[in-house]
Amino acid sequence: MSQYAAPLADMRFVLFDVLEADRVLGRLPAFAEHGREIYDAVLEEAARFTGQVLAPLNPTGDREGCTFEDGRVTTPAGFKEAYRQFVEGGWAGLVAEPEYGGQGMPETIGAAIKEMLDSANLSWGNYPLLSHGACEALKHVAEDWQREVFLRPIVEGRWTGTMCLTEPHCGTDLGLLKTRAEPGPDGTWRIVGTKIFITGGEHDMAENIVHLVLARLPDAPPGTRGISLFIVPKFKVGRDGRMGERNAVHCGSIEHKMGIKASATCVMNFDGAEGYLIGEPHKGLAAMFIMMNTARLAVGLQGLGLIERAYQNALAYARDRLQMRALTGPKRPDKPADPIIVHPDIRRMLLTQKAIAEGGRALAYYAYLQEDLKQRATDEATRQRADDLVSFLTPIVKGVLTELANECTYHAVQILGGHGYIAEWGQEQLARDARITTIYEGTTQIQALDLLGRKILQLKGPGLQAFLAEIGAFCESSAGNPALAEFVAPLGRLAKEWGELTLEIGAKAQRNPDEMGAAAVDYLHYAGYVAIAYFWAREIAALGDHHGAEFADAKRGTARFYFARILPRTATHAAAIRAGSEVLMAMPEAAFG
Ligand SMILES: Cc1cc2nc3c(=O)[nH]c(=O)nc-3n(C[C@H](O)[C@H](O)[C@H](O)COP(=O)(O)OP(=O)(O)OC[C@H]3O[C@@H](n4cnc5c(N)ncnc54)[C@H](O)[C@@H]3O)c2cc1C
Repeated sequence: MSQYAAPLADMRFVLFDVLEADRVLGRLPAFAEHGREIYDAVLEEAARFTGQVLAPLNPTGDREGCTFEDGRVTTPAGFKEAYRQFVEGGWAGLVAEPEYGGQGMPETIGAAIKEMLDSANLSWGNYPLLSHGACEALKHVAEDWQREVFLRPIVEGRWTGTMCLTEPHCGTDLGLLKTRAEPGPDGTWRIVGTKIFITGGEHDMAENIVHLVLARLPDAPPGTRGISLFIVPKFKVGRDGRMGERNAVHCGSIEHKMGIKASATCVMNFDGAEGYLIGEPHKGLAAMFIMMNTARLAVGLQGLGLIERAYQNALAYARDRLQMRALTGPKRPDKPADPIIVHPDIRRMLLTQKAIAEGGRALAYYAYLQEDLKQRATDEATRQRADDLVSFLTPIVKGVLTELANECTYHAVQILGGHGYIAEWGQEQLARDARITTIYEGTTQIQALDLLGRKILQLKGPGLQAFLAEIGAFCESSAGNPALAEFVAPLGRLAKEWGELTLEIGAKAQRNPDEMGAAAVDYLHYAGYVAIAYFWAREIAALGDHHGAEFADAKRGTARFYFARILPRTATHAAAIRAGSEVLMAMPEAAFG
């Protein structure tokens, strides 16, 4: 059975040695009272909770799934109790501001906790994930009374949040959405329509569920400019915060799906449900994007969490499973065969997982550190730079770590052979659970278009410029360091090529917009591999005597593997980008068969 122990040593290394998060955060007045001691205690307690409480519920939750009867959804055995413990432990409001009842911890520390939740139990982790996103949207766009009434109970974990965008005919293209909002007699709105695929739309873990719903006002212009955002609670809530009768929003059914079986995916029917408009009319999509961006980074962490757990599982198995002898002669002559970790290709798969997990961790936590700076830095220039960086990195973290989670969980199945394919070892569940992460919160294609089309070509890429400048400064300052030379030279070359590729695509896309669409996903991967290479180089630069020879050797070995065996994938992506759109678009549709 798959075990999980939070990789605390690597998390601490990334947080405090590579990113120096305690020092950077310590300069922000919002976190001045926190420090390394508190962060360490929180990480350790989260490791205990996720390892002992959530991880054992992962396989049972997968087998049992959610059940639906008479409009009610029941989560698998143990889920509700685990949620109670989560709330009692103060985890629900960990990163929320104290003024709303939260603990005011940095998002950067919250990211490590979130990774642990996702490794331990992805399905379970989806319930608090959406609540966190709802908090962010309410915090930034809701009126004072709405924040007072709805935010606090979510922060306290008594209520949970959802995100209601998708409709049967509209997923990626939200401009097509039909759900209507009609004016009620008392300033409230009546929401009419059907939303599908709503995560946590109905469940038994909290007293109330706050749906954030996109709908159109009667005078709405068509397309994305005519969408407004509403709060629609499962049980009606007055302006005084009192919970009243059941609202006219009900779960019609739940989906039967490939993975995350314990995460309720609901059809939600809004039959004139009472709702409150949040923010300005017709500006709902921008407001919802606050929630979506929070959730996109969080889904990137889901990818990371799955890679970490799949690696732990595969490594334990590869050390234990005896099959065949090493090509260079027996390594364990006392045994009937050698452990499979001696075989080069098993090592390739293990190292791929380790390199992506540890490099991806630094990338993801760095993005969260920018989020803290964006929200809490005291000077405008720092906030703006952090905003540019986090906005640029969000599609990379989401798109690349989830795609790589699919690759890495498949490697993990392969390492276990037939035992990876059967349910007993828990490895196939991780591969099934990983599959959704490249689809929800915007598919990989949408992350790629957001990165290249919107954030780089349309908005002139301030985030890319800041990131490339940071890599350039790192390469320059490391120039005389022989320990870094093998990493800095290829990194510098690729950072230069990244800039050139961007200009080439930009020029071609001006003549033919399909050039951008044809390049986007390869560009996303290219960006991800170079970004992870940068963080690997920083990991090596951060090594000190206090880390010990074993830790440092493992880091250097993994970095060398990444640079030698993974980073060259950038050449394939660059070639595909340069091949252009012609080979994709020239073929008439009829020729597809
Ligand atoms: C388990 C699960 C949970 C979910 N949870 C939620 C939730 O809580 N709330 C919510 O609102 N929704 C949720 N969703 C919906 C999810 O976000 C959508 O499924 C997703 O955004 C894709 O939309 P779609 O399925 O309609 O696919 P489509 O939009 O129909 O896309 C089909 C394919 O076309 C591609 N495509 C579309 N446009 C382009 C383009 N311009 N260029 C290139 N490719 C393109 C897509 O990438 C995809 O591969 C969930 C879905 C699932 C399965």
